[in-house]
Amino acid sequence: MEDIQDKVLDVVIIGSGPAGLTAALYAARADLKPVVFEGPEPGGQLMQTTDVENFPGYPNGVMGPKMMDDFREQAKKFGADCRYGYVTDIDFEKRPYKVTVDEETTVFAKSIIISTGASAKWLNLPSEQRLRGKGVSACATCDGAFFREQHVIIVGGGDTAMEEATFLTKFASKVTVIHRREELRASKAMQNRAFKNEKIEFMWNSELHEVLGDPVVEGVKILNTNTNEITILDDVTGVFVAIGHKPNTDLFKGVLTMDEVGYIQTKGQSSETDLPGIFACGDAMDPIYRQAVTAAGTGCRAALDAERFLADNEIDEEAIAQEHWK
Ligand SMILES: Cc1cc2nc3c(=O)[nH]c(=O)nc-3n(C[C@H](O)[C@H](O)[C@H](O)COP(=O)(O)OP(=O)(O)OC[C@H]3O[C@@H](n4cnc5c(N)ncnc54)[C@H](O)[C@@H]3O)c2cc1C
Repeated sequence: MEDIQDKVLDVVIIGSGPAGLTAALYAARADLKPVVFEGPEPGGQLMQTTDVENFPGYPNGVMGPKMMDDFREQAKKFGADCRYGYVTDIDFEKRPYKVTVDEETTVFAKSIIISTGASAKWLNLPSEQRLRGKGVSACATCDGAFFREQHVIIVGGGDTAMEEATFLTKFASKVTVIHRREELRASKAMQNRAFKNEKIEFMWNSELHEVLGDPVVEGVKILNTNTNEITILDDVTGVFVAIGHKPNTDLFKGVLTMDEVGYIQTKGQSSETDLPGIFACGDAMDPIYRQAVTAAGTGCRAALDAERFLADNEIDEEAIAQEHWK
């Protein structure tokens, strides 16, 4: 990283999922020479999956890691500088912002694009982790279509769980909702829609105890928390965990406006945050759609916003250098 130590960069992009690498492509084509710090998961969430069938431009589907290699290659072709590096600190006091990477390298950024994504919450059962991507999923929109005419379970009782349960009935022959309590947390409208759906069944006061099968899901053990009885559902082939997501935004807590879960709030139709020159895109600011294509779309928007911002807000680099070295 010595080559960029203490340099003033036009755009620093934090994160290398679909949002960050699309922002990198647009910023590079605008000649802004973006530097992307790829973070703990270079390529983002799609590195965890196999087939992606819903990203436009791939009529035969594509493997998640291959798609992210394509994204990176396209951004690099126009000059994006993609590097390993975890952003550990940002000094938000003044522009250019001082960005610390891996606790040692510092660079100065005239603008920053936040594309740090989000992580699904898991139950953290060993069997659930072993079978992730092999029948265990946290995204019905992404993986529902792989379970046509099959019995799947969904774990959770909130709005997302009910929405995903209803969505899964388009494909699955039966959807069993596993919920810890006797009633749902979801809104009344969502509940009613799920209760009316003949393909959805509920197991109340129940927890997923174990996912069975090797190398793919071949059943589940469900624990009744009132009676401690275990029920085996041996025809289940899909397990959807819908207990929420956590945006990777701890770095910006107390500085940028967020909702109660931690999603960064942007202004109106733009990707602007509370601070000048700091833009947010992708799953880090999107609690609703959470798809690769929407992340890429907002990544494009953030790069265009950064480009316009830089054109309107020039920084006197000479003055910065003098202040920094004095
Ligand atoms: C198993 C699975 C399958 C999926 N399948 C599909 C699908 O088929 N179709 C679809 O459209 N969507 C799918 N999704 C959803 C899709 O992956 C996400 O919507 C998308 O990846 C979000 O993109 P993003 O760029 O916002 O964030 P992410 O992909 O989450 O990337 C976040 C990036 O930020 C980096 N980062 C985080 N913190 C820091 C830091 N401090 N410093 C530097 N970097 C940092 C990470 O290393 C990572 O590179 C799937 C998700 C999962 C988990």
